[in-house]
Amino acid sequence: MLCLTCHRVRPALSRADYTAERASLIVRRGLCACSGPPPRTARPAPLRKHARTAG
Ligand SMILES: [Zn+2]
Repeated sequence: MLCLTCHRVRPALSRADYTAERASLIVRRGLCACSGPPPRTARPAPLRKHARTAG
């Protein structure tokens, strides 16, 4: 469950990994980030401005 590099909690791979023990470890040690960012956040965030109303 723990990363061998940073000794933090590795990201859960399935819903079965989301246990109370894991949650407690994440609070104490934090999440591992060695595996890199998830593919969903690979694209750069678009520049957002305040929403303007038509008119
Ligand atoms: Zn790590």
